[in-house]
Amino acid sequence: MSAPQDAAMRRAVKPVICYPPETLTLPHLALYKDARRAADKIDEVIVPAREASSIEVPKGHFLKITSIEGPQVGDLNLFNLNNLEERFFSGKTRALHGTHVTTGDRLWSNFPYLRPIATVSHDTLDWYGMDEFGGSVHDVIGTRCDPYTGNVLSGTQYHHCCHSNLTRALADARNLPLHEAERLVHDVLNVFMCTGFTRDTGQYFMKASPVRPGDCLELFAEIDILAVMSACPGGDCGSEHSSDTAKCFPMLMEVWKPKEGSLEGWASPPVNAYDRSHGR
Ligand SMILES: [Zn+2]
Repeated sequence: MSAPQDAAMRRAVKPVICYPPETLTLPHLALYKDARRAADKIDEVIVPAREASSIEVPKGHFLKITSIEGPQVGDLNLFNLNNLEERFFSGKTRALHGTHVTTGDRLWSNFPYLRPIATVSHDTLDWYGMDEFGGSVHDVIGTRCDPYTGNVLSGTQYHHCCHSNLTRALADARNLPLHEAERLVHDVLNVFMCTGFTRDTGQYFMKASPVRPGDCLELFAEIDILAVMSACPGGDCGSEHSSDTAKCFPMLMEVWKPKEGSLEGWASPPVNAYDRSHGR
């Protein structure tokens, strides 16, 4: 189609932010940081390279995810520990906070629950910002590497994509058959992954993560959480995933418990207050 005469004018319309963050209830970041300072480590698990592991994070505790040994990306799923039907909602988190999350951003759950289930309380990569390519860290735009896409694109049967790793780890954690666990696996928070959309064609891209051993991302659990994370077969995601080609490293997940009384004034958020009558 040829462009209409007023094309330039139509393109010049200024964008409007869909969900201005001022309308959200802000987390008590200072309270979280004080509580974290005096917290004690109560649990930890290693996520082996090209595998996934799970850990339980009680509400009011912190989940610390650390890069160890070498640059590595983690694909994270979060579930309500007491109701696996409630889980992380990447799409709405993206709509509310943008394509990448950092300190102060919240991780929201799916409908009909839609509430913050975790808050990013600390991020050693917050200095990265947005690079010249439009890339940034900890995205909520990718879905997770999976064997189905690999099969469509190149006919492969690869079993250590994050989707399969998460499926096996969730099945093990909750003693579920694989097909039931798979149904519950959802779009991830790409911990440490550096991604964006190309400015000219809008294509999803990845580049080698700036993460180095010792870097960490910490989440404050707003509800009881089951965290399941896969150390992506893409390694630092600088070249390819969905194969055994990339160099991969393990990762560490830890649970930190604040001292008694250090979260004075904080309350676990209730599920969404919409009445669900949908106009009937
Ligand atoms: Zn992956």
